[in-house]
Amino acid sequence: MNRKRIRASWPARLRRVMIKRKAAPFLIQERILARRTHQCPFCHRHIEEGQLEENLFVCPECSHHFRLHPRERIRFLVDPGSFRETDRDLTSLNPLDFPGYGEKIRRVTNISGLNEAVVTGIGTVEGWEISLAVMAFQFMGGSMGSAVGEKIARTIRAGVRLQLPVVIFTASGGARMQEGIFSLMQMAKTAAAAAQLEQAGLPLFIVLTDPTTGGVTASFGMLGDVILAEPGALIGFAGPRVIEGTIKKQLPEDFQRSEFLLQSGFLDRVVERSRLRSTLAFLIKTHTLPGRD
Ligand SMILES: [Zn+2]
Repeated sequence: MNRKRIRASWPARLRRVMIKRKAAPFLIQERILARRTHQCPFCHRHIEEGQLEENLFVCPECSHHFRLHPRERIRFLVDPGSFRETDRDLTSLNPLDFPGYGEKIRRVTNISGLNEAVVTGIGTVEGWEISLAVMAFQFMGGSMGSAVGEKIARTIRAGVRLQLPVVIFTASGGARMQEGIFSLMQMAKTAAAAAQLEQAGLPLFIVLTDPTTGGVTASFGMLGDVILAEPGALIGFAGPRVIEGTIKKQLPEDFQRSEFLLQSGFLDRVVERSRLRSTLAFLIKTHTLPGRD
């Protein structure tokens, strides 16, 4: 009996875990699978976690860029040991007493290991100091509630205060419906902060990652002095189905993907993940005035 248990395959062990903890079987299954292999949603190849991580979470077969956790993104971008996180404990309240919102925030915090849908701080890229914000689609779809907007605005204002370039990685489904008008106000707040940065003569570099939609696209997401995007990222305001329903026309297949937006003049460049760090370092260096290093 014991031997059988030891030899049980991992799906059998998974079933036992699921039986023990019926409350969240799919989450448990997802976590256990995540430790072993990922399946590429485009070419369907199974890739071992280690190999995928080595390849910066880009599929070695078809170059599909997987979505990144902000901690991974920061690890791949900044110089080791240079990142100092800011406003880590800043999180949304429930200003409209939206039913179940507080509970949802607690649940997502436990699963994602994040307090909000953005991680912010100061770090260096190839020795150049920047004020950095990295959004997290893993946290309520990267929705921009009041805490997210505040953290983004503070990141931009830190650039003004410390005379640093600002780099923001976006990943968002748009406004956070549970905060209603408070969420929509973040568009104005972040856009105003971007204007202050511009007045101070400092650059804002935006990297749009999959997916960036809604209120983020409609505010600071499109206000960068240089706007980069990862390959194949979904970028837009409303989703394609909503647009097709409104204009009663079928949209092109690659509509709202980075490459299409580049051709349409919305982006400056589509950059593969392996070249993002060196591209950003080049941009930061060339946009920093002499004596301001
Ligand atoms: Zn693939």
